[in-house]
Amino acid sequence: MLEAINLNDIKSPADEALDNLMKGNERFMNNMRINRNLLQQVQETKEGQQPYAVIISCMDSRTSPELIFDQGLGDIFSIRIAGNVVTPEIIGSAEYACKVVGSKLIMVLGHHGCGAVKGALDNVKLGHLPTITDRIQFHAYKGATVEEVTVNNVKAGMRTLHQKSDILNQLANDQEIRIVGGVYDISTGEVEFIGDHHEC
Ligand SMILES: [Zn+2]
Repeated sequence: MLEAINLNDIKSPADEALDNLMKGNERFMNNMRINRNLLQQVQETKEGQQPYAVIISCMDSRTSPELIFDQGLGDIFSIRIAGNVVTPEIIGSAEYACKVVGSKLIMVLGHHGCGAVKGALDNVKLGHLPTITDRIQFHAYKGATVEEVTVNNVKAGMRTLHQKSDILNQLANDQEIRIVGGVYDISTGEVEFIGDHHEC
């Protein structure tokens, strides 16, 4: 006999992708990481890749997405740049991931204690750094804390992906992908989910 199916229980691939990531972060936090044979994964992925998610995160050495979401080789696209700012190059990379390869989720991930955000608030002018900090300063305001600007910067990143990319905006509107935000706590290992763009 068929069981009644609750339509609310049916998850889209994008929802499942988010679930996967957050469950991975839970494993990481509880020190329950999957014991992977990475060399075997090298063999399994040598013919091609099908990463289900894209993480746009900071270059900070404490925030490696594969580690904090407990993912293996070939699982996620990891796009990293100081301050997780969403530049045209980052947008192009995300378009490739979602439109060409078929990833179902984009997460813009900020983190506590971000040096790039601090640099933006301190108005640091060094070499090419302003190409990054200027983008973050744009989301700062008088009296804003590093953590507040971090959240604003993540929300701005999600907004930029929608507004600057017809491809990603279309995929999101068709519910083929989700574009979400998160903030990583460097003291606990927890990723706080801060919603989809339309919830910002
Ligand atoms: Zn950072």
